[in-house]
Amino acid sequence: TTARAPRGRQFFANPGPTNIPDSILHAVAHVSIDFNDPAFLTVYDGCVAGLKRVLRTEQEVFLYTGSGHAAWEAALVNLFSPGDALLVIETGHFSESWGKMAKDLGLEVGTVAADWRRGVDFAALRAALAADTGHAIKAVCAVHNETATGMELPLTEVRAALDATGHPALLLADTISSLGSLDFRMDEWGVDVAVGGSQKGLMLPTGMSFTGVSARAMAAHAASRLPKSYFSWTNMLARRHRSFIGTVPTSLFYGLRESLRLLEEEGLDNVFARHARLAEAVRRCVRHWSGNDGPQLFCLSPDRFSNSVTAVLMPEGHDAEAVRRIALQSFNVSLGGGLGRLGGKVFRIGHLGDLNEPMILGTLASVEIALRLAGVPHSPGGVDAAIAWLAEAARAA
Ligand code: PLP
Repeated sequence: TTARAPRGRQFFANPGPTNIPDSILHAVAHVSIDFNDPAFLTVYDGCVAGLKRVLRTEQEVFLYTGSGHAAWEAALVNLFSPGDALLVIETGHFSESWGKMAKDLGLEVGTVAADWRRGVDFAALRAALAADTGHAIKAVCAVHNETATGMELPLTEVRAALDATGHPALLLADTISSLGSLDFRMDEWGVDVAVGGSQKGLMLPTGMSFTGVSARAMAAHAASRLPKSYFSWTNMLARRHRSFIGTVPTSLFYGLRESLRLLEEEGLDNVFARHARLAEAVRRCVRHWSGNDGPQLFCLSPDRFSNSVTAVLMPEGHDAEAVRRIALQSFNVSLGGGLGRLGGKVFRIGHLGDLNEPMILGTLASVEIALRLAGVPHSPGGVDAAIAWLAEAARAA
């Protein structure tokens, strides 16, 4: 027997995968069906149309069996040729990882360096683009929401830097932890490739990812020479599904149909507003804790706070993993850990997807107990600050 066998639901406060609503779980539990069966094709076509509405694009969408990394790789191999230059905007662990993948694939990767806690200075991006008078840079890679640091990168500013310098580079945006949680507009913002995944704002199991692709990006694809086969957009366009080389993961489409129904029933603007409200509750709580030299918000730029995940920086000499361990073992609350160089220094509270006030309050209360048990200095009563904010927000609604 275990002293504390977990009872009740696990409070899953990771920034991806996220909570899967019961109706999606039920939808995914679908019997096998031929992926060319007319009944499935109707579901499939409806899902692709719905995904385009969420991406706010009327251009191509290609889907992959594979997590977000698959869509990252698909974007790179379909657009570029060996030795092509990319410019990655530094945001944190995920901008580094995407850049490393591009190097592994034989691309030249430059970086616009940025402080992980403050975010990029757009003047530096403009300068890098302006300096490239020969237009060697083929694309700018931007992680819309850096899941490791809890910071948003305003993509409209990235677009503005490209426009202001008249630079023709493609704009590639990673929307993996923003799509369906934060406002994103592929066509309006001039994004050429939008990379997304199933397991975050879409509230689905992990295993499917996709790219929205602009007409300009399709033209670049036609000239690209990096080797590709399973991920080749040309190969995909030859198929009925215009995606997927091989068997289509049909169950995920029954889930996606339900996910799109849920998002559209609530209304995307209301979905974004709910994320903003719950994120602000988390931030007010953490700000309160930060008294008495307690943990603090990792992000130091209030205009770039992420509304889908908050990274909490531990006071010097205190281990974030101890807090996570106590939260999990004692209260069955699963928090995100620090990634890469932030390992042990931060823990992350995911607040995206299928989430409401009691879920976030339960998580915050449990974290506050874990801080006490771990002997981490903090100003107690952070949850009261969250309650006060949520009451104010509910009254105003
Ligand atoms: N990009 C971002 C912003 C992410 O948050 C993640 C995963 O957390 C990835 C890329 C990688 O996606 P995956 O883990 O699905 O391969």
